[in-house]
Amino acid sequence: MVQEHFDVVVVGSGFGALFFVEGYLAKRPAAKILMLERGTFNSHAWQLEHGKNSSLAHTSTFRTDAANKVWNFTIGVGGGTNCWYAQTPRFHPSDFHMKSKYGVAQDWPLDYDELEQYYVAAETRMSVAGSPDMSVVLPRSAPFPQPPHKQTAVDAIMRRAQPEFHVPIATARASVADAGRPPCCASARCNLCPVNAKFTFENGFVDLRGLPNVEIRTECEVTHFDHAGDSVKAAVYKKGGEEHRVTGDLFVLGANAIHSPAILLRSGIDHPLTGVGIHEQVGYSLEVLLEGLDSLNGGTITTALNYSLYDTPSRKDYAGALIYFDNRWPHGLRTEYGRWRQLAPLVIVVEDLPQDSNRVVLDSDGMPKVLHAEISDYAKRGVEASLVNIEKVLAPLPVERIDFKGMRDTESHIQGSLRMGNERASSVIDAKQIHHDVRNLVVVGSSVFPSGPNSNPSLSVAALSLRSAALIA
Ligand SMILES: Cc1cc2nc3c(=O)[nH]c(=O)nc-3n(C[C@H](O)[C@H](O)[C@H](O)COP(=O)(O)OP(=O)(O)OC[C@H]3O[C@@H](n4cnc5c(N)ncnc54)[C@H](O)[C@@H]3O)c2cc1C
Ligand code: SF4
Repeated sequence: MVQEHFDVVVVGSGFGALFFVEGYLAKRPAAKILMLERGTFNSHAWQLEHGKNSSLAHTSTFRTDAANKVWNFTIGVGGGTNCWYAQTPRFHPSDFHMKSKYGVAQDWPLDYDELEQYYVAAETRMSVAGSPDMSVVLPRSAPFPQPPHKQTAVDAIMRRAQPEFHVPIATARASVADAGRPPCCASARCNLCPVNAKFTFENGFVDLRGLPNVEIRTECEVTHFDHAGDSVKAAVYKKGGEEHRVTGDLFVLGANAIHSPAILLRSGIDHPLTGVGIHEQVGYSLEVLLEGLDSLNGGTITTALNYSLYDTPSRKDYAGALIYFDNRWPHGLRTEYGRWRQLAPLVIVVEDLPQDSNRVVLDSDGMPKVLHAEISDYAKRGVEASLVNIEKVLAPLPVERIDFKGMRDTESHIQGSLRMGNERASSVIDAKQIHHDVRNLVVVGSSVFPSGPNSNPSLSVAALSLRSAALIA
Protein backbone atom coordinates (compact mmCIF):
# COMPACT_ATOMS: atom_id res chain seq x y z
CA MET A 1 0.00 0.00 0.00
CA VAL A 2 1.26 3.50 -0.84
CA GLN A 3 1.91 5.45 2.35
CA GLU A 4 -0.28 8.58 2.46
CA HIS A 5 1.58 11.78 3.32
CA PHE A 6 0.20 15.26 4.10
CA ASP A 7 1.69 18.66 4.89
CA VAL A 8 -0.54 18.84 7.96
CA VAL A 9 -2.41 16.05 9.75
CA VAL A 10 -5.04 17.34 12.17
CA VAL A 11 -6.73 15.25 14.86
CA GLY A 12 -10.35 16.34 15.38
CA SER A 13 -12.48 18.96 13.65
CA GLY A 14 -13.78 21.08 16.56
CA PHE A 15 -13.08 24.68 17.49
CA GLY A 16 -9.34 24.38 18.01
CA ALA A 17 -8.73 22.28 14.89
CA LEU A 18 -10.95 24.24 12.49
CA PHE A 19 -9.58 27.65 13.44
CA PHE A 20 -6.00 26.37 13.23
CA VAL A 21 -6.66 25.09 9.70
CA GLU A 22 -8.30 28.40 8.83
CA GLY A 23 -5.26 30.35 10.07
CA TYR A 24 -2.79 28.00 8.42
CA LEU A 25 -4.51 28.20 5.02
CA ALA A 26 -4.45 32.00 5.22
CA LYS A 27 -0.62 31.78 5.01
CA ARG A 28 -0.30 28.57 3.00
CA PRO A 29 -3.40 28.25 0.84
CA ALA A 30 -2.09 25.23 -1.11
CA ALA A 31 -1.14 23.14 1.94
CA LYS A 32 -2.38 19.56 1.72
CA ILE A 33 -4.31 18.99 4.94
CA LEU A 34 -5.99 15.89 6.34
CA MET A 35 -8.39 16.19 9.27
CA LEU A 36 -9.04 12.87 11.02
CA GLU A 37 -12.38 12.98 12.82
CA ARG A 38 -13.67 10.27 15.11
CA GLY A 39 -17.36 11.05 14.60
CA THR A 40 -19.68 11.48 11.64
CA PHE A 41 -21.03 14.59 9.94
CA ASN A 42 -24.51 15.25 11.25
CA SER A 43 -26.32 18.04 9.44
CA HIS A 44 -28.51 20.59 11.20
CA ALA A 45 -31.55 18.78 9.75
CA TRP A 46 -30.27 15.43 11.06
CA GLN A 47 -29.69 16.91 14.53
CA LEU A 48 -33.20 18.39 14.71
CA GLU A 49 -34.77 15.16 13.48
CA HIS A 50 -32.91 13.01 16.00
CA GLY A 51 -32.96 15.51 18.89
CA LYS A 52 -29.22 15.18 19.50
CA ASN A 53 -25.94 16.51 18.15
CA SER A 54 -24.13 13.26 17.47
CA SER A 55 -24.74 9.63 16.66
CA LEU A 56 -22.04 8.64 19.16
CA ALA A 57 -22.81 9.19 22.87
CA HIS A 58 -19.85 11.10 24.30
CA THR A 59 -20.23 9.24 27.60
CA SER A 60 -19.28 6.00 25.83
CA THR A 61 -15.84 7.41 24.97
CA PHE A 62 -14.39 7.94 28.47
CA ARG A 63 -14.78 6.90 32.11
CA THR A 64 -14.74 8.91 35.29
CA ASP A 65 -14.14 8.19 38.97
CA ALA A 66 -16.63 10.83 40.14
CA ALA A 67 -20.21 9.74 39.51
CA ASN A 68 -21.57 13.23 40.21
CA LYS A 69 -19.18 15.18 38.02
CA VAL A 70 -20.53 15.61 34.49
CA TRP A 71 -18.23 16.32 31.51
CA ASN A 72 -20.04 17.38 28.37
CA PHE A 73 -18.85 17.50 24.75
CA THR A 74 -19.76 16.37 21.23
CA ILE A 75 -18.01 13.73 19.15
CA GLY A 76 -18.59 14.56 15.49
CA VAL A 77 -17.52 16.80 12.63
CA GLY A 78 -17.42 20.33 14.03
CA GLY A 79 -17.04 19.14 17.65
CA GLY A 80 -18.40 21.75 20.05
CA THR A 81 -19.69 24.00 17.23
CA ASN A 82 -22.69 21.66 17.10
CA CYS A 83 -23.84 21.67 20.71
CA TRP A 84 -22.58 25.03 21.92
CA TYR A 85 -24.82 27.92 23.00
CA ALA A 86 -22.60 30.45 21.17
CA GLN A 87 -21.82 32.69 24.15
CA THR A 88 -18.61 34.42 23.07
CA PRO A 89 -17.15 36.79 25.66
CA ARG A 90 -13.41 37.31 25.44
CA PHE A 91 -11.26 36.47 28.45
CA HIS A 92 -10.50 39.41 30.75
CA PRO A 93 -7.03 41.00 30.53
CA SER A 94 -6.32 39.91 34.14
CA ASP A 95 -7.09 36.27 33.29
CA PHE A 96 -3.71 36.03 31.59
CA HIS A 97 -1.82 37.17 34.72
CA MET A 98 -3.35 35.19 37.57
CA LYS A 99 -0.01 34.33 39.18
CA SER A 100 1.68 37.71 38.94
CA LYS A 101 -1.46 39.69 39.82
CA TYR A 102 -3.18 37.45 42.37
CA GLY A 103 -0.66 34.74 43.28
CA VAL A 104 -2.82 31.83 42.07
CA ALA A 105 -2.56 29.32 39.19
CA GLN A 106 -0.10 30.19 36.41
CA ASP A 107 0.43 33.12 34.10
CA TRP A 108 -0.27 32.56 30.44
CA PRO A 109 2.71 32.88 28.09
CA LEU A 110 0.86 35.64 26.21
CA ASP A 111 -1.39 38.51 27.19
CA TYR A 112 -4.69 40.03 26.13
CA ASP A 113 -3.06 42.67 23.92
CA GLU A 114 -1.19 40.03 21.96
CA LEU A 115 -4.36 38.03 21.43
CA GLU A 116 -6.55 41.04 20.61
CA GLN A 117 -6.07 40.99 16.80
CA TYR A 118 -6.94 37.28 16.78
CA TYR A 119 -10.03 37.91 18.91
CA VAL A 120 -11.15 40.38 16.24
CA ALA A 121 -10.46 37.83 13.49
CA ALA A 122 -12.37 35.07 15.31
CA GLU A 123 -15.31 37.40 16.02
CA THR A 124 -15.37 38.42 12.37
CA ARG A 125 -15.32 34.79 11.25
CA MET A 126 -18.24 33.93 13.55
CA SER A 127 -20.06 37.19 12.80
CA VAL A 128 -20.42 37.89 16.52
CA ALA A 129 -23.14 40.25 17.76
CA GLY A 130 -22.14 42.65 20.51
CA SER A 131 -22.08 46.21 21.77
CA PRO A 132 -19.24 48.75 21.74
CA ASP A 133 -20.11 49.26 25.43
CA MET A 134 -18.36 45.98 26.18
CA SER A 135 -15.02 47.70 25.65
CA VAL A 136 -15.28 49.26 29.13
CA VAL A 137 -14.43 45.80 30.45
CA LEU A 138 -12.75 44.12 27.48
CA PRO A 139 -10.88 46.66 25.31
CA ARG A 140 -11.27 46.19 21.57
CA SER A 141 -9.72 47.63 18.43
CA ALA A 142 -12.65 46.99 16.06
CA PRO A 143 -16.44 47.04 16.24
CA PHE A 144 -18.44 43.82 16.53
CA PRO A 145 -19.61 42.52 13.15
CA GLN A 146 -23.27 42.53 14.24
CA PRO A 147 -25.27 44.88 16.51
CA PRO A 148 -26.11 43.69 20.03
CA HIS A 149 -29.26 41.78 20.83
CA LYS A 150 -32.25 43.61 22.29
CA GLN A 151 -31.83 43.99 26.05
CA THR A 152 -34.47 43.19 28.68
CA ALA A 153 -36.18 45.65 31.02
CA VAL A 154 -33.90 44.32 33.76
CA ASP A 155 -30.81 45.02 31.65
CA ALA A 156 -31.94 48.57 30.94
CA ILE A 157 -32.03 49.33 34.68
CA MET A 158 -28.77 47.53 35.40
CA ARG A 159 -26.96 49.25 32.55
CA ARG A 160 -28.04 52.69 33.72
CA ALA A 161 -26.85 51.94 37.25
CA GLN A 162 -23.67 50.02 36.43
CA PRO A 163 -22.46 51.03 32.95
CA GLU A 164 -18.93 49.91 33.82
CA PHE A 165 -20.02 46.35 34.70
CA HIS A 166 -23.31 45.46 33.01
CA VAL A 167 -22.92 45.00 29.25
CA PRO A 168 -24.83 43.34 26.40
CA ILE A 169 -23.48 39.87 25.78
CA ALA A 170 -21.18 39.08 22.88
CA THR A 171 -22.61 36.08 21.06
CA ALA A 172 -22.32 34.12 17.82
CA ARG A 173 -26.13 33.94 17.74
CA ALA A 174 -27.13 36.26 14.90
CA SER A 175 -28.91 39.48 15.87
CA VAL A 176 -29.57 40.26 12.19
CA ALA A 177 -29.73 38.00 9.14
CA ASP A 178 -26.09 37.71 8.07
CA ALA A 179 -23.37 35.22 7.16
CA GLY A 180 -26.00 32.76 5.92
CA ARG A 181 -27.82 32.68 9.26
CA PRO A 182 -31.28 34.03 10.18
CA PRO A 183 -31.63 36.19 13.29
CA CYS A 184 -32.02 34.46 16.64
CA CYS A 185 -35.63 34.35 17.80
CA ALA A 186 -34.96 33.66 21.49
CA SER A 187 -36.40 30.16 21.57
CA ALA A 188 -33.68 29.29 24.08
CA ARG A 189 -32.60 25.76 23.19
CA CYS A 190 -29.36 26.60 21.43
CA ASN A 191 -27.76 23.14 21.50
CA LEU A 192 -30.45 22.29 18.92
CA CYS A 193 -31.24 25.72 17.51
CA PRO A 194 -34.44 25.32 15.49
CA VAL A 195 -33.68 28.15 13.06
CA ASN A 196 -29.90 27.71 12.62
CA ALA A 197 -29.12 31.16 14.04
CA LYS A 198 -25.89 30.27 15.83
CA PHE A 199 -22.51 29.75 14.20
CA THR A 200 -21.76 26.07 13.53
CA PHE A 201 -19.37 24.03 11.44
CA GLU A 202 -22.08 23.45 8.85
CA ASN A 203 -23.15 27.07 8.35
CA GLY A 204 -19.79 28.67 9.18
CA PHE A 205 -17.15 26.63 7.34
CA VAL A 206 -18.83 26.25 3.95
CA ASP A 207 -15.68 27.47 2.13
CA LEU A 208 -13.41 25.01 3.91
CA ARG A 209 -15.61 22.08 2.97
CA GLY A 210 -15.26 22.93 -0.73
CA LEU A 211 -11.44 23.09 -0.83
CA PRO A 212 -9.75 20.36 -2.91
CA ASN A 213 -6.62 20.35 -0.71
CA VAL A 214 -8.45 19.81 2.60
CA GLU A 215 -10.02 16.48 3.44
CA ILE A 216 -12.13 15.77 6.51
CA ARG A 217 -12.06 12.01 6.91
CA THR A 218 -14.80 10.80 9.24
CA GLU A 219 -15.16 7.78 11.54
CA CYS A 220 -11.40 7.78 12.08
CA GLU A 221 -10.50 7.39 15.74
CA VAL A 222 -6.90 8.43 16.22
CA THR A 223 -5.43 6.15 18.86
CA HIS A 224 -1.82 7.38 19.03
CA PHE A 225 1.14 8.92 17.25
CA ASP A 226 4.28 7.09 16.17
CA HIS A 227 7.16 9.28 17.22
CA ALA A 228 10.92 9.13 17.35
CA GLY A 229 13.24 11.62 18.96
CA ASP A 230 11.67 15.06 18.91
CA SER A 231 9.18 14.49 16.11
CA VAL A 232 5.95 12.69 15.27
CA LYS A 233 6.25 10.44 12.22
CA ALA A 234 2.67 9.24 11.81
CA ALA A 235 -0.85 9.36 13.20
CA VAL A 236 -2.39 5.95 13.72
CA TYR A 237 -6.17 5.61 13.53
CA LYS A 238 -8.92 3.00 13.50
CA LYS A 239 -11.51 3.03 10.76
CA GLY A 240 -13.93 0.22 9.96
CA GLY A 241 -12.23 -2.10 12.42
CA GLU A 242 -8.83 -1.70 10.74
CA GLU A 243 -5.75 0.22 11.76
CA HIS A 244 -4.37 2.87 9.39
CA ARG A 245 -1.30 5.07 9.46
CA VAL A 246 -0.74 8.42 7.82
CA THR A 247 2.48 10.44 7.78
CA GLY A 248 2.88 14.21 7.75
CA ASP A 249 5.23 17.14 8.29
CA LEU A 250 3.16 18.85 10.95
CA PHE A 251 0.66 17.26 13.36
CA VAL A 252 -2.09 19.18 15.13
CA LEU A 253 -3.84 17.61 18.11
CA GLY A 254 -7.34 19.00 18.74
CA ALA A 255 -9.31 16.07 20.15
CA ASN A 256 -10.64 17.94 23.27
CA ALA A 257 -9.32 18.17 26.81
CA ILE A 258 -10.08 14.52 27.64
CA HIS A 259 -9.11 12.78 24.40
CA SER A 260 -6.05 14.86 23.47
CA PRO A 261 -4.09 13.91 26.61
CA ALA A 262 -5.25 10.30 26.21
CA ILE A 263 -3.76 10.19 22.69
CA LEU A 264 -0.45 11.56 24.01
CA LEU A 265 -0.41 9.07 26.89
CA ARG A 266 -1.06 6.16 24.50
CA SER A 267 1.76 7.47 22.28
CA GLY A 268 4.28 7.39 25.11
CA ILE A 269 4.85 11.14 24.70
CA ASP A 270 5.11 11.37 28.41
CA HIS A 271 5.61 14.86 29.67
CA PRO A 272 4.82 14.64 33.42
CA LEU A 273 1.99 17.21 33.21
CA THR A 274 0.13 15.36 30.45
CA GLY A 275 -3.53 15.17 31.48
CA VAL A 276 -2.88 17.08 34.71
CA GLY A 277 -5.16 19.89 35.86
CA ILE A 278 -8.41 19.19 34.00
CA HIS A 279 -11.11 21.48 35.32
CA GLU A 280 -14.04 23.69 34.44
CA GLN A 281 -16.03 26.46 36.06
CA VAL A 282 -18.58 25.97 38.83
CA GLY A 283 -22.06 27.32 38.17
CA TYR A 284 -25.33 27.81 39.99
CA SER A 285 -28.74 29.23 39.18
CA LEU A 286 -30.71 31.97 40.89
CA GLU A 287 -34.19 33.24 40.25
CA VAL A 288 -34.80 36.89 41.12
CA LEU A 289 -38.46 37.70 41.70
CA LEU A 290 -39.25 41.31 40.85
CA GLU A 291 -41.79 43.76 42.28
CA GLY A 292 -43.79 45.29 39.44
CA LEU A 293 -41.19 44.99 36.66
CA ASP A 294 -42.05 42.86 33.62
CA SER A 295 -38.94 41.48 31.97
CA LEU A 296 -38.03 38.52 29.69
CA ASN A 297 -38.40 40.82 26.68
CA GLY A 298 -34.90 40.47 25.26
CA GLY A 299 -33.73 39.28 21.85
CA THR A 300 -31.86 36.10 22.73
CA ILE A 301 -31.40 33.43 25.38
CA THR A 302 -28.85 35.41 27.45
CA THR A 303 -28.87 39.14 26.93
CA ALA A 304 -26.20 40.60 29.21
CA LEU A 305 -23.16 39.85 31.34
CA ASN A 306 -22.37 41.54 34.63
CA TYR A 307 -18.68 41.83 35.57
CA SER A 308 -19.10 43.33 39.08
CA LEU A 309 -17.67 40.23 40.77
CA TYR A 310 -15.28 39.11 38.03
CA ASP A 311 -11.99 40.86 38.69
CA THR A 312 -11.80 42.45 42.13
CA PRO A 313 -8.79 42.63 44.50
CA SER A 314 -10.39 39.69 46.38
CA ARG A 315 -9.38 37.46 43.49
CA LYS A 316 -6.18 36.76 45.41
CA ASP A 317 -8.33 35.09 48.12
CA TYR A 318 -11.26 33.64 46.25
CA ALA A 319 -12.49 33.00 42.74
CA GLY A 320 -14.18 35.67 40.65
CA ALA A 321 -17.69 35.22 39.26
CA LEU A 322 -19.42 36.17 36.02
CA ILE A 323 -23.17 36.81 36.15
CA TYR A 324 -25.28 35.81 33.15
CA PHE A 325 -28.61 37.66 32.82
CA ASP A 326 -30.92 35.24 31.10
CA ASN A 327 -33.97 35.80 28.96
CA ARG A 328 -35.52 32.37 29.44
CA TRP A 329 -37.60 30.81 32.19
CA PRO A 330 -35.94 27.54 33.21
CA HIS A 331 -37.91 27.53 36.49
CA GLY A 332 -41.23 28.45 34.87
CA LEU A 333 -43.08 31.74 34.68
CA ARG A 334 -44.60 33.25 37.84
CA THR A 335 -48.01 31.90 38.76
CA GLU A 336 -49.53 35.04 40.32
CA TYR A 337 -52.11 36.59 37.97
CA GLY A 338 -50.58 39.24 35.72
CA ARG A 339 -47.10 38.85 37.17
CA TRP A 340 -45.92 36.11 34.82
CA ARG A 341 -42.80 37.96 33.65
CA GLN A 342 -41.75 39.69 36.86
CA LEU A 343 -38.58 37.66 37.21
CA ALA A 344 -34.94 37.49 36.16
CA PRO A 345 -33.22 34.11 35.96
CA LEU A 346 -29.46 34.35 36.55
CA VAL A 347 -26.60 31.94 36.11
CA ILE A 348 -23.51 32.63 38.22
CA VAL A 349 -20.29 31.10 36.93
CA VAL A 350 -17.27 30.90 39.21
CA GLU A 351 -13.74 30.10 38.03
CA ASP A 352 -11.87 27.04 39.30
CA LEU A 353 -8.13 26.38 39.52
CA PRO A 354 -6.37 23.51 37.78
CA GLN A 355 -5.34 21.07 40.53
CA ASP A 356 -2.68 18.38 40.08
CA SER A 357 -4.95 15.74 41.62
CA ASN A 358 -7.58 16.25 38.90
CA ARG A 359 -6.28 14.56 35.79
CA VAL A 360 -6.87 12.38 32.75
CA VAL A 361 -5.24 8.94 32.95
CA LEU A 362 -5.56 5.77 30.89
CA ASP A 363 -7.66 2.87 32.13
CA SER A 364 -6.26 -0.64 31.73
CA ASP A 365 -7.81 -0.95 28.23
CA GLY A 366 -6.44 2.42 27.07
CA MET A 367 -9.72 4.32 27.48
CA PRO A 368 -9.36 7.79 29.05
CA LYS A 369 -10.46 8.05 32.67
CA VAL A 370 -11.01 11.39 34.38
CA LEU A 371 -9.97 11.55 38.03
CA HIS A 372 -11.69 14.51 39.62
CA ALA A 373 -11.81 14.56 43.41
CA GLU A 374 -13.36 17.99 43.87
CA ILE A 375 -13.23 21.66 43.01
CA SER A 376 -10.61 23.88 44.65
CA ASP A 377 -11.12 25.67 47.97
CA TYR A 378 -10.51 28.86 45.98
CA ALA A 379 -13.62 28.10 43.89
CA LYS A 380 -15.66 27.11 46.96
CA ARG A 381 -14.82 30.44 48.61
CA GLY A 382 -15.73 32.17 45.34
CA VAL A 383 -19.16 30.53 45.31
CA GLU A 384 -19.80 31.61 48.92
CA ALA A 385 -18.62 35.17 48.32
CA SER A 386 -20.75 35.54 45.19
CA LEU A 387 -23.85 34.39 47.08
CA VAL A 388 -23.17 37.02 49.74
CA ASN A 389 -22.42 39.81 47.25
CA ILE A 390 -25.21 39.22 44.75
CA GLU A 391 -27.72 41.31 46.73
CA LYS A 392 -25.46 44.36 46.42
CA VAL A 393 -25.03 43.79 42.69
CA LEU A 394 -28.80 43.59 42.20
CA ALA A 395 -29.54 46.67 44.35
CA PRO A 396 -30.74 48.78 41.36
CA LEU A 397 -33.59 46.33 40.71
CA PRO A 398 -36.97 46.16 42.53
CA VAL A 399 -36.05 42.80 44.08
CA GLU A 400 -38.80 40.98 45.94
CA ARG A 401 -36.86 37.79 46.64
CA ILE A 402 -33.81 35.89 45.41
CA ASP A 403 -34.25 32.10 45.22
CA PHE A 404 -31.30 29.74 45.02
CA LYS A 405 -32.14 27.15 42.33
CA GLY A 406 -29.26 24.76 42.79
CA MET A 407 -25.75 24.05 41.57
CA ARG A 408 -25.42 23.23 37.87
CA ASP A 409 -23.92 19.82 37.18
CA THR A 410 -21.57 21.15 34.50
CA GLU A 411 -20.70 24.27 32.56
CA SER A 412 -19.79 22.01 29.57
CA HIS A 413 -16.30 23.47 29.43
CA ILE A 414 -13.58 20.80 29.75
CA GLN A 415 -10.20 22.50 29.82
CA GLY A 416 -6.65 22.72 31.13
CA SER A 417 -5.23 19.19 30.72
CA LEU A 418 -2.29 20.15 28.44
CA ARG A 419 -1.39 23.57 29.73
CA MET A 420 0.70 26.10 27.81
CA GLY A 421 3.64 28.07 29.23
CA ASN A 422 7.19 29.21 28.70
CA GLU A 423 8.88 26.62 30.94
CA ARG A 424 8.89 22.90 30.28
CA ALA A 425 8.82 22.25 34.03
CA SER A 426 5.41 23.87 34.42
CA SER A 427 3.74 23.34 31.04
CA VAL A 428 3.31 20.76 28.28
CA ILE A 429 3.31 23.08 25.28
CA ASP A 430 5.04 26.36 24.59
CA ALA A 431 3.73 29.84 23.80
CA LYS A 432 3.16 28.89 20.15
CA GLN A 433 1.30 25.75 21.33
CA ILE A 434 4.09 23.44 20.12
CA HIS A 435 4.81 20.48 22.41
CA HIS A 436 7.95 21.21 24.45
CA ASP A 437 9.46 17.80 23.61
CA VAL A 438 7.98 16.97 20.20
CA ARG A 439 8.58 19.88 17.92
CA ASN A 440 6.32 19.11 14.95
CA LEU A 441 3.31 18.58 17.22
CA VAL A 442 0.91 21.44 17.94
CA VAL A 443 -1.86 21.17 20.54
CA VAL A 444 -5.05 23.22 20.05
CA GLY A 445 -8.36 23.52 21.89
CA SER A 446 -9.32 24.30 25.46
CA SER A 447 -6.88 21.69 26.82
CA VAL A 448 -4.12 24.32 26.52
CA PHE A 449 -5.52 26.76 29.14
CA PRO A 450 -3.07 27.16 32.06
CA SER A 451 -5.80 28.64 34.26
CA GLY A 452 -9.58 28.57 34.14
CA PRO A 453 -11.11 31.98 33.53
CA ASN A 454 -14.82 32.17 34.28
CA SER A 455 -15.79 33.18 30.74
CA ASN A 456 -16.93 30.77 28.04
CA PRO A 457 -13.85 29.32 26.35
CA SER A 458 -14.54 28.82 22.64
CA LEU A 459 -13.86 32.32 21.29
CA SER A 460 -10.50 32.20 23.09
CA VAL A 461 -9.84 28.70 21.69
CA ALA A 462 -10.48 30.05 18.20
CA ALA A 463 -8.30 33.15 18.71
CA LEU A 464 -5.45 31.07 20.15
CA SER A 465 -5.58 28.69 17.17
CA LEU A 466 -5.50 31.57 14.69
CA ARG A 467 -2.48 33.00 16.50
CA SER A 468 -0.67 29.67 16.71
CA ALA A 469 -1.26 28.97 13.01
CA ALA A 470 -0.07 32.45 12.02
CA LEU A 471 3.15 32.02 14.03
CA ILE A 472 3.83 28.48 12.80
CA ALA A 473 2.77 28.68 9.13
C1 LIG B 1 -23.92 21.85 25.53
C2 LIG B 1 -22.68 22.69 25.38
C3 LIG B 1 -22.80 24.08 25.31
C4 LIG B 1 -21.65 24.87 25.15
N1 LIG B 1 -21.82 26.23 25.03
C5 LIG B 1 -20.72 27.00 24.87
C6 LIG B 1 -20.86 28.41 24.71
O1 LIG B 1 -21.96 28.94 24.69
N2 LIG B 1 -19.73 29.14 24.57
C7 LIG B 1 -18.49 28.58 24.58
O2 LIG B 1 -17.51 29.31 24.47
N3 LIG B 1 -18.34 27.26 24.72
C8 LIG B 1 -19.42 26.46 24.85
N4 LIG B 1 -19.26 25.11 25.00
C9 LIG B 1 -17.89 24.56 25.08
C10 LIG B 1 -17.28 24.32 23.72
O3 LIG B 1 -18.00 23.35 23.04
C11 LIG B 1 -15.83 23.86 23.92
O4 LIG B 1 -15.16 24.81 24.70
C12 LIG B 1 -15.07 23.74 22.62
O5 LIG B 1 -15.76 22.88 21.75
C13 LIG B 1 -13.66 23.25 22.87
O6 LIG B 1 -12.99 23.15 21.65
P1 LIG B 1 -11.95 21.98 21.38
O7 LIG B 1 -11.37 22.22 20.04
O8 LIG B 1 -11.05 21.84 22.54
O9 LIG B 1 -12.82 20.64 21.38
P2 LIG B 1 -14.11 20.16 20.45
O10 LIG B 1 -14.71 21.36 19.83
O11 LIG B 1 -14.89 19.32 21.32
O12 LIG B 1 -13.38 19.34 19.31
C14 LIG B 1 -12.77 18.08 19.52
C15 LIG B 1 -12.91 17.26 18.26
O13 LIG B 1 -12.07 16.11 18.32
C16 LIG B 1 -12.81 14.96 17.90
N5 LIG B 1 -12.17 13.80 18.51
C17 LIG B 1 -12.16 13.42 19.81
N6 LIG B 1 -11.39 12.32 19.97
C18 LIG B 1 -10.89 12.01 18.75
C19 LIG B 1 -10.01 10.99 18.29
N7 LIG B 1 -9.49 10.08 19.11
N8 LIG B 1 -9.71 10.95 16.95
C20 LIG B 1 -10.24 11.87 16.09
N9 LIG B 1 -11.07 12.86 16.50
C21 LIG B 1 -11.37 12.94 17.82
C22 LIG B 1 -14.23 15.27 18.35
O14 LIG B 1 -15.19 14.50 17.67
C23 LIG B 1 -14.33 16.76 18.01
O15 LIG B 1 -14.64 16.98 16.67
C24 LIG B 1 -20.38 24.28 25.12
C25 LIG B 1 -20.26 22.89 25.19
C26 LIG B 1 -21.39 22.09 25.32
C27 LIG B 1 -21.23 20.61 25.41
S1 SF4 C 1 -31.93 31.50 21.36
FE1 SF4 C 1 -33.14 30.22 19.98
S2 SF4 C 1 -32.92 31.07 17.92
FE2 SF4 C 1 -31.33 31.92 19.25
S3 SF4 C 1 -29.58 30.56 18.87
FE3 SF4 C 1 -30.62 29.80 20.70
S4 SF4 C 1 -32.04 28.31 19.94
FE4 SF4 C 1 -31.38 29.49 18.17
